[in-house]
Amino acid sequence: MKVNKTETNVTEKMCKKCGKVLASTTKYRYCDNCRRGRAKTRREALATAGALGIAILSVVPVVKHLVNKK
Ligand SMILES: [Zn+2]
Repeated sequence: MKVNKTETNVTEKMCKKCGKVLASTTKYRYCDNCRRGRAKTRREALATAGALGIAILSVVPVVKHLVNKK
């Protein structure tokens, strides 16, 4: 009797983003490429958030000034 092993051997991990097959020993859900890309995106998001925060902080005094002028 033949045993179909392809059905039971589904422990193979795949990158959540691009579907690339990962080593089953990896603890990451993304391949190296996508993890690099995500790290870069996170850095850029942080930089954007920082710039936005500074922009908001610099706008608040102006808004307060305009409100008080009424
Ligand atoms: Zn990937």
